[in-house]
Amino acid sequence: MKCPYCGYGESKVVDSRSTEDNMSIRRRRECLKCSRRYTTYEKIENVPILVIKKNMNREYFDRTKIINGLIKACQKRPVSRQQIESIADEIEKRISNEMLTEVNSEYIGEMIMEYLKNIDEVSYVRFASVYRQFKDINTFMEEIKNLISDK
Ligand SMILES: [Zn+2]
Repeated sequence: MKCPYCGYGESKVVDSRSTEDNMSIRRRRECLKCSRRYTTYEKIENVPILVIKKNMNREYFDRTKIINGLIKACQKRPVSRQQIESIADEIEKRISNEMLTEVNSEYIGEMIMEYLKNIDEVSYVRFASVYRQFKDINTFMEEIKNLISDK
């Protein structure tokens, strides 16, 4: 596993613990070259979950995609990497708890928005604007109004 900061291939494990659901092990690692820390997860490879996209194509569920989408939406916002990871964890957990083997990308998008809404509204609106592909300023304003009236 390469260090995400410097690309060095060796690290030492500084902490190792099971996640709450006991389905995976989270390890904190320290790069032996640059000494920065990062996290890896080890988990049982289970039945792949397929995501049905808007165009009806199917692709494998990919946690990284959720995280990347969130990182984009949360840029320069007070949302930590930890919070982003835990949203992705929650979503993965919910899908596996529901024993789904196929899930609509919309369903995932709605779940992400649900979590994001409670964490940071600006990130939420950003995510929603990409995800719901607001066609014009009116749909966008509509979403903002809903957000305000939810309070
Ligand atoms: Zn490094």
